[in-house]
Amino acid sequence: MSEKSQERELGMNRKITRRDFLDGTALAVGGAVVSSAVPRLFGLSQLDSAPEKNRTYYPPALTGLRGNHEGSYPVAHSLRDHTFWDSAAKPESTGETYDLIVVGGGISGLAAAYFFRKHGGVDARILILDNHDDFGGHAKRNEFRAGGRLLLSYGGTQSIDTPSQYSKVAKGLITELGIDTQRFYKAYDQELYEKLGTACFFDKETFGEDRLVTGMGSRSWGEFLKDAPLTEKVRHDIERVYAEKVDYLPGLSREQKRAKLAEISYADYLTKFCKLGPDALPFFQSYTHDEFCVGIDAVSALTCYETGDDYGSFTYPGFDGLDLGDEGKKEEPYIFHFPDGNASVARLLVRSLIPAAIPGDTMDDIVTARADYARLDDAKSAIRIRLNSAVVKVANDGPAKSAKGVTVAYMRGGKLQTVRGKSCTLACYNMMIPYLCPELPEKQKEALHQLVKSPLVYTHVAIRNWSTFQRLGIQHIIAPGSYHTYAALDFPVSLGEYRFPSKPEEPMVLFMLRTPCSPGLPQRDQNRMGRAELMETPFSSFERNIRDQLARMLGAAGFDPAQDIEGITVNRWAHGYAYSPNPLFDPQWRKGEEPWVIGRQPFGRITIANSDAGASAYTDAAIDQAYRAVEEVMASG
Ligand SMILES: Cc1cc2nc3c(=O)[nH]c(=O)nc-3n(C[C@H](O)[C@H](O)[C@H](O)COP(=O)(O)OP(=O)(O)OC[C@H]3O[C@@H](n4cnc5c(N)ncnc54)[C@H](O)[C@@H]3O)c2cc1C
Repeated sequence: MSEKSQERELGMNRKITRRDFLDGTALAVGGAVVSSAVPRLFGLSQLDSAPEKNRTYYPPALTGLRGNHEGSYPVAHSLRDHTFWDSAAKPESTGETYDLIVVGGGISGLAAAYFFRKHGGVDARILILDNHDDFGGHAKRNEFRAGGRLLLSYGGTQSIDTPSQYSKVAKGLITELGIDTQRFYKAYDQELYEKLGTACFFDKETFGEDRLVTGMGSRSWGEFLKDAPLTEKVRHDIERVYAEKVDYLPGLSREQKRAKLAEISYADYLTKFCKLGPDALPFFQSYTHDEFCVGIDAVSALTCYETGDDYGSFTYPGFDGLDLGDEGKKEEPYIFHFPDGNASVARLLVRSLIPAAIPGDTMDDIVTARADYARLDDAKSAIRIRLNSAVVKVANDGPAKSAKGVTVAYMRGGKLQTVRGKSCTLACYNMMIPYLCPELPEKQKEALHQLVKSPLVYTHVAIRNWSTFQRLGIQHIIAPGSYHTYAALDFPVSLGEYRFPSKPEEPMVLFMLRTPCSPGLPQRDQNRMGRAELMETPFSSFERNIRDQLARMLGAAGFDPAQDIEGITVNRWAHGYAYSPNPLFDPQWRKGEEPWVIGRQPFGRITIANSDAGASAYTDAAIDQAYRAVEEVMASG
């Protein structure tokens, strides 16, 4: 087939909204290109200096390349490359002063504002600056229009994970925002997908031929593997390790076993201790992608054991005979999910901080409430959120020890502006802080540099209906060798006026996960390479890969990418999960010597929040770190 007709067959010529006119590599800093990127996303004039005030400005409805979207990062990258100040214009003061300036409008930054107002009084003047076109940080909202209806989905932060384990502070905030987690037991339809299982897609590049095999985890492993394009030996190895209850670490105490598992990768555990042949590893390689953004070569066996029961059908085999006790096993179901994920948590925070910006007052009505972006940065409001504003410098006014205020400089609409504050909380990516505050002690900057985030992509595809999945009897697809290594129907949650598409003939959002990594390298290097890859990949390549993969996985069952795809949003998180320590590559730091602890020390009137500061890629960490950072602000008087 010619390339042209192949493109047509995949539907590359189909009209869906594509917002990829600015290729990452084509962007330059300082010129009109950067300042015009955001207005153009909303179809506005390049000269529009306050695009948020325009009626057409509504980021959740944008499709195409989102997440770390075009226009959000060139300023940061030029700071990193030490080129920003070469061509920077003279800063202009806005003349504004605040009690607190928060850098970063993710859950941590929004929570910092919330806690500061709580401690500092309702009149506290707070400015939140964020370099993206929408608030929420990773907790973003995706909207689609498909089949004449609204489909909601999440751009990043997916669910309130294990809320029973949240700290008192995080639980308190969730409750004060009006979230009753018990409600999800009813809102989340735990029966809808009960009869739908998991399939594995074996791709020809990795396994020699394309084949979708259903019944993973529901049929016996022997039955399931009989249909897989794997050699007899590989099938036997996989079946054996799932079936046998052998102590692969005989003669060691529980403590010694845990220590051993912590120092070897899961891949090594499978081959060296469970005695699987190396040819079996590609089947397991991506089991860890969702949680850790790298494969089983770079995740310790202990970590796999401790997170092992989360995945239903794809549990990590090899631990049943070790008698390690059942520490780390989670008991709560994974159902605490708003239709737009934790974007609702961010939206509830914004509603609390700036009531005029989002109508309503319950966890139900937040789901369909439309945010009014024109009200976020309103001079009449004590609390303001200024989007599309990349902070480039944060400095104490005078020596850190005696400073009574801070000055913050940021780029907005191509202009360098400054604001003054009594204090500043940095709730932004921690590894960027050394570029914003070069005056920090060297040891602290070095520690912050180590907090390398993991890149990942949450792709959402609006499809015409989900009858192919119904016919195949599947809800999830694991695709260990494919571009996206996991695909799943959206979470079945109906809340407020939002109704989940519960009938197979209704349009649906399909989730697809990609975590670009380079097996064999240390985690930080894999993360850096993955990030570089993401920044170089235009939307058209993502789209072609998505269409091609869906055709190969589901085409035989009737899915037609040219007809069945109604919209695509690629949430590209080049800076995704917060770094968390990996026993395979990191030393055992003494308490207080961990890089995230050294990194988050207050510096004069500047304090540091973000989930990075807790070395934990979870919403509760973002909240807890916000609380601590605000306590430090309050303590400094
Ligand atoms: C894809 C994905 C899925 C996740 N799923 C879950 C989940 O299901 N459950 C869960 O509990 N956690 C999840 N997490 C982790 C969770 O999202 C985070 O722990 C939490 O939301 C992070 O919030 P934050 O405010 O600390 O950081 P962020 O959300 O990263 O917010 C920081 C903000 O600061 C901005 N910023 C950075 N530098 C500057 C600058 N110089 N100037 C201005 N602004 C700046 C950033 O652009 C960003 O908007 C997920 C993370 C990702 C990436």
